[in-house]
Amino acid sequence: MDEVRRYSRHLIIPDVAMDGQKRLKNARVLCVGAGGLGSPALMYLAAAGVGTLGIVEFDTVDESNLQRQIIHGQSDIGRPKAESAAATIREINPLVNVVIHNTALDNDNVFEIFGQYDLIVDGTDNFATRYLVNDAAVLLGKPYVWGSIYRFDGQASVFWAEHGPCYRCLYPEPPPPGMVPSCAEGGVLGVLCASIGSIQVTEAIKLLTGVGEPLVGRLMVYDALEMTYRSVKVRKDPDCALCGENPTITGLIDYDDFCGAVSAEAQEAADGATITAAELKEMFDAGKEFYLVDVREQAEYEIVRIPGSVLIPKGEILNGSALATLPQDRQIVLHCKSGVRSAEALAALKAAGFKDSVHVQGGVLAWVNTVDPSLPTY
Ligand code: ZN
Repeated sequence: MDEVRRYSRHLIIPDVAMDGQKRLKNARVLCVGAGGLGSPALMYLAAAGVGTLGIVEFDTVDESNLQRQIIHGQSDIGRPKAESAAATIREINPLVNVVIHNTALDNDNVFEIFGQYDLIVDGTDNFATRYLVNDAAVLLGKPYVWGSIYRFDGQASVFWAEHGPCYRCLYPEPPPPGMVPSCAEGGVLGVLCASIGSIQVTEAIKLLTGVGEPLVGRLMVYDALEMTYRSVKVRKDPDCALCGENPTITGLIDYDDFCGAVSAEAQEAADGATITAAELKEMFDAGKEFYLVDVREQAEYEIVRIPGSVLIPKGEILNGSALATLPQDRQIVLHCKSGVRSAEALAALKAAGFKDSVHVQGGVLAWVNTVDPSLPTY
């Protein structure tokens, strides 16, 4: 009876009614991130009566979050965001079963976590996690509601590979690292989170109750300065690497590498120890003695390689097993596909005492582009 009172404004909408409200109560929805988009999404999903709400979030509340992450308050500063969000949800609607995943989403836990939910709401703010969410959702056949915000602009869509395009159909490749600033670097109008987050919740509720036309195959583009919403058709790409006719991605990949995200440790190691592909060519031409190590995987090495390189996959350097095979009397030059994995391996090598080792900026792709365009790329 309490529930009838609580949800009465839903129950009197003929298209929702008791049946729709029961569907919401039986639904299990996961929100990835309890930040800018996750805040309004979780609050409205809770208020709407979604029975089980999961939160994946590893971060803690910072004062700079409060300008837009309205699920957290002043007294939550320093507290894990997942816990703070769960407390707010319980205050909004104690009937919601809140499941906290106080962890960063990664390749090892994504299937296990996603597997517990019917629908995913993506409130992530970085490309590596965004591609991870997409790929895992497609591989599991689950729908997810995507949103993104920056300054005065926002976008949202529903990706469900069985009924329409996926995120990769729209954005096959992430932007080059540093090209697109994050909200931390470029700023975001706080209330934009509500505009896009509310579209995401609206779509989630439509999908769960079966009401209306879901935003599958359409991209909503919001411009707060012009105050316009546009809906753009997005088609499924038959050549999509993940959901196309001949997919080349059949499992999770290395998303940090794919998105060119270099760890702080790797960045530090690479500072002053990075050479260009042209400089590597000069070293060859000058007859310099060095040991060129390709840290990619065997399959990549088969596609294209820099002549004279020795294959030692990154993992064997990171776990130390390959260190004994490396020569002590020559400089070691590392390279990978694009320069991310080699920077990581470089940090490990330097820590192991190979102080003068360097890596090649842009990897084998830079070598192909600047030195030998006749070689294949991938
Ligand atoms: Zn696709």
